Amino acid sequence: MTEQKIMVKPFEALADARFQKPWEKIMIGLECHVQLNTDSKLFCSCPAGKETEEPNTACCEVCLGMPGSKPALNKKALDYALKVALALNCNINEKFFFSRKTYFYPDMSKNFQITQYEIPVGENGFIELQGGKKIRIRRIHLEEDPAALIHESGLLSSNYCLVDYNRSGIPLIEVVTEPDMASPQEAREFLDQLTMFLSYLDVFDFENGTLKADCNLSVVGNERAEIKNVTGKKSVEKALEFEAKRQLELVKQGKQIVRETRGFDEKTLSTKSLRKKESEEDYGYITDTDLAAVVLSKKEIDAIRKSLPELHSDKAKRLAKEFGLSDYDAKVIAGSRFLSELFEEFAKSSSAKTANFFVSGIFVSIAHHDNKEPEELSSMLDVSQLKELLSLFEKGKINEKALKEAAIAHITKSKNPLDFIRENGLFKEASSGEIEKIVERALAANPKAVADLKTGNEKSLNFLVGLAMRESKGKAEPREIKRIIEEKIK
Ligand code: ZN
Ligand code: MN
Repeated sequence: MTEQKIMVKPFEALADARFQKPWEKIMIGLECHVQLNTDSKLFCSCPAGKETEEPNTACCEVCLGMPGSKPALNKKALDYALKVALALNCNINEKFFFSRKTYFYPDMSKNFQITQYEIPVGENGFIELQGGKKIRIRRIHLEEDPAALIHESGLLSSNYCLVDYNRSGIPLIEVVTEPDMASPQEAREFLDQLTMFLSYLDVFDFENGTLKADCNLSVVGNERAEIKNVTGKKSVEKALEFEAKRQLELVKQGKQIVRETRGFDEKTLSTKSLRKKESEEDYGYITDTDLAAVVLSKKEIDAIRKSLPELHSDKAKRLAKEFGLSDYDAKVIAGSRFLSELFEEFAKSSSAKTANFFVSGIFVSIAHHDNKEPEELSSMLDVSQLKELLSLFEKGKINEKALKEAAIAHITKSKNPLDFIRENGLFKEASSGEIEKIVERALAANPKAVADLKTGNEKSLNFLVGLAMRESKGKAEPREIKRIIEEKIK
């Protein structure tokens, strides 16, 4: 007679005995490569950001790595890197130098990349997420972008690939985080915060610049995989979502996760193995003796610190205080330099309330609906036309719906919003006198609710609005009624 066997997979046995669902904890670290919007490249005078031009026309002996050529550091790129490092709460190294990272590939004609290894520009910073969680930044360093490899589709597509050196030598900063993010959503939020800093510091071209990330993800207690070169915030989130699912599934099945480098496929939104992971030491870094070490004085660092503009967290606090916005709305508006400038401009001719309603309510949702960052719509706006539109709304001549429709027509079809209102007959009937009377009656009949409202009770406001709405048989808008009530009890 055989003895009974307990059939449990080894991993499950371990999990039951020692951990509680160990596979539920994920660690994500990012290495973000941000293209700086300087005029020239990092170590030569070739124009930067000319990737759209005729290939191989924006390059010279330095960015092509010809023998005997001598690189020289772009001061502006250094200043930009210092700005970002300071804004992200990093300690600045007063002395650092550049190293050569051995790298044999057609997109790097020198067979090495000039980067920083031993001592970066800045270290030990952090970015705070909305909920207050701090994501630590291990380091920020400067390095040059490799050339672009172009895989032509069609004829002979599998047999060759073209190289465009226009991109070779464009300045990048690499922002390396600790593995502090616990979900793809947190990684996305980190990138949103990072791009806010870039927008306020004006070091990144939102229309033409690229932001790429190498994304490291592991399930706690297991090896990590690195997804190389993912372009854009949305793709980073998608790549991490796929990778988290894949690794969690492996762990659940008791399989081992191998340390490796993976690639992200934009079409299938999946990752696949590229190569078994090499370690950073394998690159054989050596000091670049063609470039002088950078030595900064405390005075120089202080001068850059002082030159930093008001950043989004300070701006949010100021907007909340100065314009009486809610913390949430202030954060949405301060979330981009462009939005906050737009808000402050509208608030000059309209009330802060109307400006806020338009910017954080209507404008942001139009941008999101089109899957765009607000700054990408900046060239579509005629601010003075929109100011007139807001003033019509504020005077009660058009309703919320008309305001929205006119704004959409303006932003998506360059339509003059006032013409749009006129052509579509969206001016309100002169019935606001009638609504005013309804409100007056509602207030007179409910002295207790009015008294409560004066002490700041929001519930009684809603109660009174509801009453007036019913009275008007739906003809009036809640917003309009609210406005009248607030005026009356002032
Ligand atoms: Zn060059
Ligand atoms: Mn790098």
